[in-house]
Amino acid sequence: MGKKTTHKFKAEVSQLLDILVHSLYTNKEIFLRELISNASDALEKARFKGQAEGAEDTVAPEIRIACDADAGTLTITDTGVGMTRDELMRNIGTIAHSGTAELTRLAGEGKESLDALIGRFGVGFYSVYMVADEVEVTTRSIEPDAKPVVWTSDGRTDYKLQELDEDLPRGTKIVVRLKEDLASQFTNAAHLKHIVNKHSNFINFPIYVGDERV
Ligand code: ADP
Ligand code: MG
Repeated sequence: MGKKTTHKFKAEVSQLLDILVHSLYTNKEIFLRELISNASDALEKARFKGQAEGAEDTVAPEIRIACDADAGTLTITDTGVGMTRDELMRNIGTIAHSGTAELTRLAGEGKESLDALIGRFGVGFYSVYMVADEVEVTTRSIEPDAKPVVWTSDGRTDYKLQELDEDLPRGTKIVVRLKEDLASQFTNAAHLKHIVNKHSNFINFPIYVGDERV
């Protein structure tokens, strides 16, 4: 395995994370919509790349959600484009989602409630920190010879990166270690299916909760 390195979040990202970690926003389930939306984008990119290259794609496009009530974890896996180490650093940690600066600024002004702001802006990947104590992203890019990389963070000041020697299929796996008080809610398969149907019913790829297609 490669050496584990530690990286600081960009200030703008840290500010948003601070808001999300301490958010009293009650509609926290939207984090799942954001993770599914990213998985769908990644699958779309893989399909586009496959079409451009004219090669037949043997990987089934899918999004899988699994939960482990005992461990208090929720896992979202996709067979999309994945990310290289550089992409991972850029996309999660450095570049903030387009609305981030604006959201942080408006939240600071305090004129509009955080509820309204989170609802209005797609808060993206970082919204997972409304429900997570720790998040682990394992990803392997579709690029030939790309090595899988693991990204981990508790969403505070920094994140850790490590390259893996093993060969993994392309795509991304996100393990969410749920905050204790939210674990039972978000490891309940029936509730997860309900959330998927409510917020992600327009997604054009198969979504599974456990073995069941939603
Ligand atoms: P947005 O989706 O609006 O770009 P996000 O915060 O949701 O903002 O995601 C940031 C970026 O991280 C994405 O643009 C994408 O490049 C990358 N990313 C996030 N999740 C995945 C995933 N499952 N597979 C591949 N790339 C991803
Ligand atoms: Mg997104």
